[in-house]
Amino acid sequence: MDAALGPPAKMAELDDELTPMMAQYFELCDQYDEALVLFQVGDFYEAFCDAAERVARLCEITLTQRSDSTGEYAMAGIPIDNAESYIETLLDAGYRVAIADQVEDPDAVSGVVERAVTRVVTPGTLTEAELLDGADSNYVAALARGEEYGLALVDISTGACYATSVGSETAVADELRRFGPAEAIVGPDVAVDESTVFGGACLVTEYDADAFERERAEARVERYFGPPERLLAGEPERRACGALLAYAEYTRGKSGAVGPDGEPVDPDVDPEGTLDYLNHLTRYDPREYMLLDAVAVESLELFDRRSVRGHGNLTLVDTLDETACALGRRKLTDWLRRPLLDEDRIEARHEAVGELKRSPGTRERLQELLSQVYDIERLISRVSRGRANARDLRSLAATLSVVPDVREALADADSRLLTDLHATLDPLTGIREEIEAAIRPDPPQQVTEGGVIREGYDGELDELRSTERSGKQWIDDLEASERERTGIDSLKVGHTAVHGYYIEVTNANLDSVPDDYQRRQTLKNSERYYTPELKNREEEILRAEAAADDMEYDLFCRVRDQVAEAAERVQALAEKLARLDAIVAFGAVAATQGYCRPTVGADGIDIEAGRHPVVERTEESFVPNDTELGSADTAEGDTPRFVVLTGPNMSGKSTYMRQVALCCVLAQTGSFVPASSAALPILDRVFTRVGASDDIAGGRSTFMIEMTELSTILTEATEESLVLLDEVGRGTSTADGLAIARAVTEYLHDEIGAYTLFATHHHDLTAAADELTGVANRHFETSREEGSVVFDHELADGPAAASYGVEVASMAGVPEPVVERARERLSADDSSPGVGGCEGGPGTGSDSGESSDSAPPVEPSEDDDVEALLREVDVATMTPLDALNTLADLADRVE
Ligand code: ADP
Ligand code: MG
Repeated sequence: MDAALGPPAKMAELDDELTPMMAQYFELCDQYDEALVLFQVGDFYEAFCDAAERVARLCEITLTQRSDSTGEYAMAGIPIDNAESYIETLLDAGYRVAIADQVEDPDAVSGVVERAVTRVVTPGTLTEAELLDGADSNYVAALARGEEYGLALVDISTGACYATSVGSETAVADELRRFGPAEAIVGPDVAVDESTVFGGACLVTEYDADAFERERAEARVERYFGPPERLLAGEPERRACGALLAYAEYTRGKSGAVGPDGEPVDPDVDPEGTLDYLNHLTRYDPREYMLLDAVAVESLELFDRRSVRGHGNLTLVDTLDETACALGRRKLTDWLRRPLLDEDRIEARHEAVGELKRSPGTRERLQELLSQVYDIERLISRVSRGRANARDLRSLAATLSVVPDVREALADADSRLLTDLHATLDPLTGIREEIEAAIRPDPPQQVTEGGVIREGYDGELDELRSTERSGKQWIDDLEASERERTGIDSLKVGHTAVHGYYIEVTNANLDSVPDDYQRRQTLKNSERYYTPELKNREEEILRAEAAADDMEYDLFCRVRDQVAEAAERVQALAEKLARLDAIVAFGAVAATQGYCRPTVGADGIDIEAGRHPVVERTEESFVPNDTELGSADTAEGDTPRFVVLTGPNMSGKSTYMRQVALCCVLAQTGSFVPASSAALPILDRVFTRVGASDDIAGGRSTFMIEMTELSTILTEATEESLVLLDEVGRGTSTADGLAIARAVTEYLHDEIGAYTLFATHHHDLTAAADELTGVANRHFETSREEGSVVFDHELADGPAAASYGVEVASMAGVPEPVVERARERLSADDSSPGVGGCEGGPGTGSDSGESSDSAPPVEPSEDDDVEALLREVDVATMTPLDALNTLADLADRVE
């Protein structure tokens, strides 16, 4: 057990003797023993004892001592004003943080101030705007196990909830990958491999088993969303959902909730209450969406850049991100994670995108309006949780005031989606008017210190403020009138925080001080006085001010509650604005990047002049290429559905294969595609086995990964899947590799019939095309100029003819003697069959053994030494460290 968590041992020894404040701290640590408790003392959040030492070290703040009648305690304090960055540090170190705020006004109570945990900040339940990146959602996942796996997810910052069921551990991993949760809780009996299922960045906790218990979970789901059997498909799903809600309550510091260990954290408050902002649940079936598993998402670089030498900093989502507001940015990501399968829904998006592509005026107008839209999805979640301030309400009103203009801009729309938005965008006029009438235009951050409520909104408040003002006016006039009354020209009226108002007279004029002046303070050169009337006025001002501040706060809370009641409507509006923004972004990209509207639902892929959406942005001149993959039932003479791609390294094979996949993903997301025309099928899934994902850091051998990925493809691909195979069979000997590649080709062709692009250095594989009717050869053209190779990135029919490996090596700067030697060896090997290995370079074909026999004897040299060593290397079983050592050894020998 981490000593920084739970009640400090040092305090436990003292038991009843603790001072009331420390007893309170002790108590909260006991209740929230899974979290680091930060305990408000005035302007600081304090931690004590072991927790203090931990906080001080992690946050690099000074460790101090607090002493009271019972002893000395280590103490570390974080200033509340900029607590966020410190809290983030603690989260990064793997802690949950329980924030115990003072929940009483310290001035209003005698004795110790009551404190309560108002929220537990965890990586997945962060809601502070400062800590959240607007473009990303922040999900917490819950996983329960029954016959299937039940998965529930919530984005606490927006209130979006999802639930689904899947059949296998891999399918769980695939679904999680769509959401990328920062945190997950798992029920009992969920024995999955955490790092592969959840990914390394996710904090996984086994949560209270009772919360996953069926009846309890269902009751909770019912309280939030209505009858669970109507909403959710299976028992595991309901259990996951119920447990997730319980966890959301726990992190909200909600009373009645239980902590991860199942202990109620605060027994005395209403267990029936719900978190208002969690009010809509989307149950989805993974089969409604194209499946992009973790491997595909990564190798297609949808969201994260894969390699450092890649294409600048761009990913697919960046190239599409012409969104104007945070709502749209999140929607775009969400859409890309889940491309559609339903032809009608896809076409509805295309129709709207087409309309916007054609009308730049409307598009620009909409972008301008949408750029004024605040993140109202998160904002309304703060409103519902009682954490929104007056500025938030004004931001909501500002957003609402844009809505009528947005509708206006959509007035002439034709497409289904846009006309529907025009008809249904809800400007929530009543709410906007209420906010505008109640809240000042530029309110302060704090809501308890006045300056929030507009004049004219509430008569009683105005009266208090006017009393305050006239009192202050009287005091402002006092200096002049007292100077006149006393004849002291240097008399001054002033104010200090400690002593309040005073009249100051310099020592030289003390003789002229009237009788009604009473001494308040003596300074070196002057005396300060007050009069009974001044004192009265002062008290009156203070009373009025305090009463007015309180009243403003009450009025503000009333308005906020009123807005909270409209939470569902605001969420619905947010959803629509988000969709609109994403569609407008697609329209803008289509227009500026020259994308075309694809037809979907075709039996085959037919792309004319297709481009890679990301590479084309960074490449000075990108060479477009066509793609033709035919129907699954090919007869002699039809367009095959399977293409074997050959061509030297760097000629564009990988880029080409990905561009085909990206076109399909884009089309099914609702976007236009980078091509001059495209007819596309609706793919159920894109599979990739792309060479470079060598998991060196993970320590698994690359060949093992390769075969694992390959087996997934062979067991799960269908006729409607697109399979990209880039260099399969590389991590083993040539003979093995070729045999595997050949067998895979036959299986995909004969048994599955998937759309397949297979880039290979096994030149012999091109022979398969001659034997299988549904397989064609294509290759990348290169021209040779003065002993070096020029890549024209142009795809042509048939297999690549010769090996350019050596020239590529020379271009890459491999020293000339080595290149020469390679040329020699190559010509020596020329007699052997299949030497065309495009990427393998020298020696690729000689593994079979025949060729080395027939090669003329070469004098023994270091090179042979190296070769002998290389032959002994067993790449498939080697660890990364072995590999590095071997490499170092080889380099030594060549030296
Ligand atoms: P291969 O897989 O054949 O080794 P890549 O697809 O990795 O080749 O392409 C190598 C580089 O060539 C890319 O990084 C890109 O910069 C450039 N490239 C690829 N395809 C094209 C193209 N169609 N037009 C222009 N440049 C391209
Ligand atoms: Mg490649």
